Amino acid sequence: MTPNQTELYKTTLKLLTQRGVSLDAIADLVMFLQKDYIDHLTLAECRESVQVVLRKREIQNAIITGIQLDLLAEQKQLMSPLQEIIESDEGLYGIDEVMALSIVNVYGSIGSTNYGYIDKIKPGILAKLNAHEPGIIHTFLDDLVGAVAAAAASRLAHAHPEEDSY
Ligand code: MG
Repeated sequence: MTPNQTELYKTTLKLLTQRGVSLDAIADLVMFLQKDYIDHLTLAECRESVQVVLRKREIQNAIITGIQLDLLAEQKQLMSPLQEIIESDEGLYGIDEVMALSIVNVYGSIGSTNYGYIDKIKPGILAKLNAHEPGIIHTFLDDLVGAVAAAAASRLAHAHPEEDSY
């Protein structure tokens, strides 16, 4: 039986929390992306936008898939060579970025611009996820979190068309 929408949303939030990513940490990234473009933007608005994004089925699917692969890699459960590729966060792999783009594309081209930018700067939680601490694998999670923030930021940009966002 396929899980219902509420269950999937709860599971997504639970998995993110278990992997050390809070809603507020993602909201901070949204603020980082949009603060110069939307006057008086509040953290509450950023958080709300993240929640809306996380309610989308295709985005939940990407998150639960990516986190599962990170976890299996930590447990050394993947087949070779995928195990080594994900374990070492190999630069040429690229499927983590493809998964991230499937998230940002939901909100149009502004989303991929935002994602490219945040992936390069790696502010806040993204720096932490990219630390490559021994035994901890965030090959997918860093891209997924950046993508959710980029998507949430794009939503806000579309919601404030009167302000010259881009
Ligand atoms: Mg990655």
